[in-house]
Amino acid sequence: MNVLVINCGSSSLKFQLMDMNTETISAKGLCERIGDKGSRLVYKPVGRPGAEEVVKETPMPTHKEAVQLVLDSLTNPEYGAVKSLDEIDAVGHRVLHAAEKYVDSVVVDDDVIKAIEDCIKFGPLHNPANLTGINVCRELMPGVPQVAVFDTAFHQTMPKKAFLYGLPKKAYTEYGIRRYGFHGTSHKFISREVAKFLGRDINNLKTIVCHLGNGASICAVENGKSIDTSMGLTPLAGLVMGTRSGDIDPAIVEYYGKEEGLTVSETITALNKQSGIYGLTGGTSDFRDLEEGYMEGKQDFIDAMELFCYDVAKYIGAYTAALNGVDDIVFTAGIGEHSPFVREKVCSYLGYLGVSLDKEANENAKDNTIISTPDSKVTICVIPTNEELMIARDTKELTEGR
Ligand code: ADP
Repeated sequence: MNVLVINCGSSSLKFQLMDMNTETISAKGLCERIGDKGSRLVYKPVGRPGAEEVVKETPMPTHKEAVQLVLDSLTNPEYGAVKSLDEIDAVGHRVLHAAEKYVDSVVVDDDVIKAIEDCIKFGPLHNPANLTGINVCRELMPGVPQVAVFDTAFHQTMPKKAFLYGLPKKAYTEYGIRRYGFHGTSHKFISREVAKFLGRDINNLKTIVCHLGNGASICAVENGKSIDTSMGLTPLAGLVMGTRSGDIDPAIVEYYGKEEGLTVSETITALNKQSGIYGLTGGTSDFRDLEEGYMEGKQDFIDAMELFCYDVAKYIGAYTAALNGVDDIVFTAGIGEHSPFVREKVCSYLGYLGVSLDKEANENAKDNTIISTPDSKVTICVIPTNEELMIARDTKELTEGR
């Protein structure tokens, strides 16, 4: 079974064609600068010796031209991965926000389209782009089932005490303002993967997943279900991140906005795009540079790194309380997978939990790795996330045999 995974951003489209009989990638790539000058497609055939990356610079005024170009490339007689579109059995789409409408992935029909439209107010940048991707695929691949996989769905199992904010009641009942949480596809993938990796029964396991990428969030998972997570109504909440502030005193919005002469909406943009590690260091959000600056003794870099690791450790403490204990803690995503420095610093706060880090395993972690010592009371792991695979698995499960 071949599943095409599509992730549409406002001006980009990432894709991956997966053979789900073997869970291997046949081709992947992206379209950049859609609707702008210099738009181009990068197409990478995978698993065929000698097959080279194909780059096509061609106008893509909308996502429709981008999807068409992806489909043409996938069926190209020279470098395509399939002979015809008939060989693509289903398409899985990453969608940001479904509010409380869906607790799991779902096969797209007109009701699903309406629900994604209704949630544009919560995800004004992502939901419209996600929707365009779905609509274009429905048009260009009639009869091929489309599946929507939501970033919010995995967190719909959170109890009310975890998702309610201390606001006037109508904020939730009338306006739908609550914690929704994001990175659900990654948290779901990792919580299943770690149970398998450790040979543990997922129905008897307390896991804390640290998804530390440019966007970062932490999730408390009890018996395979999310019971709390650090992002909120939007992805701005929780940990300090690459360019996002994470949690701040809400009164800062007025105070900082006034000082800087910004409107509320401009202030929120500043909190999303010019804050976090980027804001603290004066222009660096990449953790490789952050580590370098830290080693060189640059004070702003030291402050930003210390704040980030302290923040992660505080959330781990909070979620250990929420779970009433923790069996395993997983580091994943760009920083979680690739920064032994951050992992060691975070774990240095966890002695009270009986965490004992295996420094050598931490330094050399690659693929799925246990980085705690055998006598550590909590197992610490590095597990690479694979959101595309999770989307393809959900898509297969919902559409196979239809
Ligand atoms: P997103 O998907 O949110 O854009 P990623 O999961 O790709 O983010 O993570 C990007 C982050 O991972 C960047 O801050 C980058 O610096 C960090 N990163 C990637 N490789 C390394 C590395 N070798 N050491 C430290 N940080 C790394």
